[in-house]
Amino acid sequence: MTPHYNVAILGATGAVGQRFLQLLEHHPWFTVKALMGSEHSVGKLYRDATQWMLESELPTCYADMKLVSSHTTALPPDIDIIFSAIPAEAAREIEGAFAKAGYSVFSNTRTYRMEKDIPLMVPEVNPLHLALIKQQSRRGWKGCIITNPNCIVIPLVMALKPLHDAFGVTHVIVSTMQAISGAGYPGVASLDIVDNIIPYIADEEEKIITETQKILGTPKAPARIKISPSCHRVAVVDGHTIDARIGLQRPATATEIIEVLRNYTNPLASLNLPSSPASCLTVLEAPNRPQPKLDRMRGNGMTVCVGRIRPDEVLQNGIKMIILGHNTIRGAAGGAILNAEYYLAQKKYRV
Ligand code: NAP
Repeated sequence: MTPHYNVAILGATGAVGQRFLQLLEHHPWFTVKALMGSEHSVGKLYRDATQWMLESELPTCYADMKLVSSHTTALPPDIDIIFSAIPAEAAREIEGAFAKAGYSVFSNTRTYRMEKDIPLMVPEVNPLHLALIKQQSRRGWKGCIITNPNCIVIPLVMALKPLHDAFGVTHVIVSTMQAISGAGYPGVASLDIVDNIIPYIADEEEKIITETQKILGTPKAPARIKISPSCHRVAVVDGHTIDARIGLQRPATATEIIEVLRNYTNPLASLNLPSSPASCLTVLEAPNRPQPKLDRMRGNGMTVCVGRIRPDEVLQNGIKMIILGHNTIRGAAGGAILNAEYYLAQKKYRV
């Protein structure tokens, strides 16, 4: 029998909130029953409160829904799950209150990601980290919070995981080229980004280091990988690109690297989760791929693409490659929905 859950969206009007609505419109397990916004949107119809900016039409089923406030008391009684896309400053209180009240909260926000009893999940990469949920005994919550990482960390760890398993990753040097939608709506001013590259994204480099180490480590200890990131905002609408240089414990040729990435089997395949793509990682051979415009929608935006795999002469046992992931789908809303599907399929950990 197909499972069924009623869900509510925190931050429904924003860049990630809109993706949630688009991805959930025909979701076989989840029905969106409530949309939440900040206090200035409460009481407005969704179509009046949001600047819809996705390529598909604003689904009619949401257009006339009224935004409710981001408080547990504002929700109808039959909600099971909260998907959250609110700013970090608001998340501690709001997400915490929902988790305390008994909801399962799937968050895109950085606030709780690095806390010991909060899973930071990319289920194809660290499925066992779900065991970190100890929030009932530690915090007295009736529900829980499960987070997905920063939008640039998701494609990075998906490409690193098979290499770490096969050869041991010791060093990672990354330069990122991050899309404008990663800054939310309205995000970066057009006069700042058109004809330009901005070589700074606040707090992003620290998150790449700590979140990557947490995800690639065990549930008890972070991975001992040295990471040196440099982040840039570029004039691309969607799709984050990473130039990654990777040092390995054991030497590997480019051909061996390609083989390992190609043979990486999706550990979720047998679960038949609705948002899990047939191939979570794709290796592209053309020398000028991956490109955000051409490759970000592979696997409905859930597949991470890797290309330009070649030796790096500077790092010990070095290899370099380009990695691409869709930031608001795989890196945000789609990632959180997959986390929820995975969590619900793992009865052992459910609260
Ligand atoms: P955004 O476009 O600025 O949207 C922010 C949303 O949060 C809006 O719906 C806004 O509602 C709501 N909000 C703002 N202040 C609030 C408050 N005090 N209480 C309740 N709701 C509030 O931002 P975004 O890009 O969607 O990002 C949302 C979160 O996801 C952030 O934490 C971000 O770091 C994270 N994230 C973003 C991406 C990405 O690619 N954009 C990827 C991964 C993670 P109103 O419109 O009603 O004000």
